[in-house]
Amino acid sequence: MPTNLSYAPVDFLNVPDGAGIRDSMSKRVIILGSTGSIGRNTLDVLARLDDEWEVAGLAAGSRGQELAEQANRFRPAAVAIACDELAAEARRTLQYGPKIFAGPEALTRLVDEVEADCVVCAVVGVCGLLATLRAVELGRRVALANKEAMVVAGSLMMPLARRTGATIIPVDSEHSAIFQALQAGRREDVHKVFLTASGGPFRTWSVEAMEEVTLKEALRHPTWNMGPKITIDSATMMNKALEIVEARWLFDLRSDQIDVVIHPESIVHSMVEFNDGSIVAQLGAPDMRTPIQYALTYPRRRPCPSPRLDLCQTGQLTFHAPDPGQFPAIRLGHEVARRGGTCGAVLNAANEAAVELFRAGAIAYRDIARFTERALREHDFVESPTLDELLNADRMARQKVTRCTTC
Ligand code: MG
Repeated sequence: MPTNLSYAPVDFLNVPDGAGIRDSMSKRVIILGSTGSIGRNTLDVLARLDDEWEVAGLAAGSRGQELAEQANRFRPAAVAIACDELAAEARRTLQYGPKIFAGPEALTRLVDEVEADCVVCAVVGVCGLLATLRAVELGRRVALANKEAMVVAGSLMMPLARRTGATIIPVDSEHSAIFQALQAGRREDVHKVFLTASGGPFRTWSVEAMEEVTLKEALRHPTWNMGPKITIDSATMMNKALEIVEARWLFDLRSDQIDVVIHPESIVHSMVEFNDGSIVAQLGAPDMRTPIQYALTYPRRRPCPSPRLDLCQTGQLTFHAPDPGQFPAIRLGHEVARRGGTCGAVLNAANEAAVELFRAGAIAYRDIARFTERALREHDFVESPTLDELLNADRMARQKVTRCTTC
């Protein structure tokens, strides 16, 4: 039986309840990225859970005033913020005296110095990586919304979690669905997983029409309401590429065990197919509060503010295979999951840089995948990278993409 899975379904862990959070103790939660969409939803979930839950720390990279308003309401012992000016902005609004960490190491120091049972890692991009690794190192329960951390450093994070006993529970809706579906069987009996994808706004567009996509069009997502970076990633399906890599590390799967299925209704959040041909799916209204709450309360299931699903109202659920010409990102995701090493860092960084250029109007929509692919092909591959080598691969990939615009 493979034992290299830190998320281990309940029967493997042999602890019927708790899995890192005992019911009798207060449940202290740190939220990294509290002013983003996942962070706000986490606070909404926590506000409705019972009084045993408490916010131990809040961190944000922008919106100092909003961070302070959140702190005034939830009264964490400490807050962290990216820079001094924002800290000053927060201080003006704070109505009490929490400890304030400011500067580039603020996130890691918050995780380090504030006692907590669970750390919600919801910082977008690679900047949340170090703090996430620190939470894993401390053996905390990690509710992982920052998929980039797993994409870049899954090869370090999963072995670290096994050593420290940290429980990593995905918040990404697809991976939460897989995590939930996995409870129905044994790890060695998994045949494959299906990541569902809404298909984004360009699902029905021709390849030619997609050459002309504008920023405004790319920012219009049909089902999920998210930040701009992830909305563009959904349109290009780079989001799905990152999710393929995330699933590869999180669930210790081979690249060929991960399929992407377009499911425009976004009701089936993902599926696991077992060896006997049975497919177990998790369904629900598209509302991030469900996977967030599950990551906090697992293995318990508490009443949740997400709307209930009425399948008769929903009517049809449809599924089809993605067109590789329309969405080249999926091929890149499989390639990166297969090769491992520094590829995850390059995929993530090159895409981040390309999305920024697209948002600035410097490159076309289709160039996002083109530039990312080029950065992958031309990078100095390291098979078993250290953290420094991963961060270096990240830097080099960003430079590469920026240089591409001038060549
Ligand atoms: Mg997702």
